[in-house]
Amino acid sequence: MTRVVMKFGGTSVGDVERIRRVARIVAAERKPGPDGKQRGIAVVVSAMSGETDKLVKLARDAGGETPNGPAAGGAGFDDEYDVIVSTGEQVTTGLLALALRQIGIPARSWQNWQMPLKTDAAHAKARIDAIDEKGELARSIDAGEVAVIPGFQGVTADGRITTLGRGGSDTSAVAVAAALKADRCDIYTDVDGVYTTDPRIVPKARRLDRISYEEILEMASLGAKVLQTRSVELAMAQRVPVRVLSSFVEPGEPNAGTIVCDEEEIVEKQIVSGVAYSRDEAKVSLIGVVDAPGVAADIFGRLADANINVDMIVQSQSRQEGKQNIVFTCPDRDAPRASDILHGAHEKIAFDELHIKRDVAKVSVIGIGMKSQVGVARTMFSALAQKGINIEVIATSEIKISVIIDAQYVELAVRALHTAYGLDAA
Ligand code: ADP
Ligand code: ASP
Ligand code: MG
Repeated sequence: MTRVVMKFGGTSVGDVERIRRVARIVAAERKPGPDGKQRGIAVVVSAMSGETDKLVKLARDAGGETPNGPAAGGAGFDDEYDVIVSTGEQVTTGLLALALRQIGIPARSWQNWQMPLKTDAAHAKARIDAIDEKGELARSIDAGEVAVIPGFQGVTADGRITTLGRGGSDTSAVAVAAALKADRCDIYTDVDGVYTTDPRIVPKARRLDRISYEEILEMASLGAKVLQTRSVELAMAQRVPVRVLSSFVEPGEPNAGTIVCDEEEIVEKQIVSGVAYSRDEAKVSLIGVVDAPGVAADIFGRLADANINVDMIVQSQSRQEGKQNIVFTCPDRDAPRASDILHGAHEKIAFDELHIKRDVAKVSVIGIGMKSQVGVARTMFSALAQKGINIEVIATSEIKISVIIDAQYVELAVRALHTAYGLDAA
């Protein structure tokens, strides 16, 4: 039996008319393939666009911005936060199941506790442990009934509801595809594939026919929200074939999308295949820190204990003898907590000054061809210099270069880099 998992994001199920179109796309996919056999279909849906934001706001209004509240990433209220924000997806599963039945397709919703999809207990950012499917879901879809599953959530071993972090429906879809040993996981969204950069800010962005797992992983983790980072990690680990395509196209119309594949399957390796950006950044500078073994371990240990995800780190010699400067970046929402933690440890860490700059952004260029090319960084730095954009922090890996710049220049920088690397559409 061929099984296919189809995932539809928030905009794609944004109103009842769009849900009806989704039902038509699902019905077309369910039709027998060239071998004459019907395909088993599981559909993973997001909440209708804007719903999750509304629910998050409600939870915050009720829970307050306390240190333990979800806003601060703490644990105290996060279990009830998950109960609230997970409800958006439940509504969509019911609506899509109804829309499918209306056009004569047998369908039912499966809430996560019914499958069940088990996660750890890290509320608001849970990780999927396993889909303990005992065969009932597989039997149902193999018998021709479409399973409609809410993305973004799961249950703990004790049956408490969890959510997987924003954008988590992509990860749910890949996990369901892995559990069902699906032939494909198709991610339907409001753009018709993965582009060289966010098509919303660069009209000259081009759709990529193929992208490697490694590149899309970097693009996602560096800010391109077209796929959640963890969904790509999971797809790589479980070898799930993923395709990104448009949900705004009627069945039968061309919809090639982007195939995510192994590096070896890409014949022409671009030096740079994409530009990504993230505005959710803050730069923390610790000036005049004692230069001694164990100091960095102490600083970053405290931040890790507080669950603050530190990204770039640069250490440099201070002009003062025996002192150094440490600059790092972290998600902007964590900056106030990072500041409190470091100030609270002032006696132990003994720095001269602490500066936090919150209006910064990260811009990155990504490409597997970079591995074997020189001069990639020079192109980036001169393109930014020509626009008068100052670089504050630089980080590199084998297939990416990231810089921190003033947030007001982010769009200018992305466009300049897109042109500099020859990515603009003709
Ligand atoms: P969904 O609700 O379907 O999950 P998202 O809003 O999470 O959709 O992701 C799709 C959005 O990702 C697009 O509308 C686009 O603005 C943005 N995006 C950012 N970078 C890229 C890129 N490189 N290629 C395609 N889309 C991108
Ligand atoms: N509805 C959730 C969100 O807005 C999950 C998702 O759409 O992937 O983050
Ligand atoms: Mg998304």
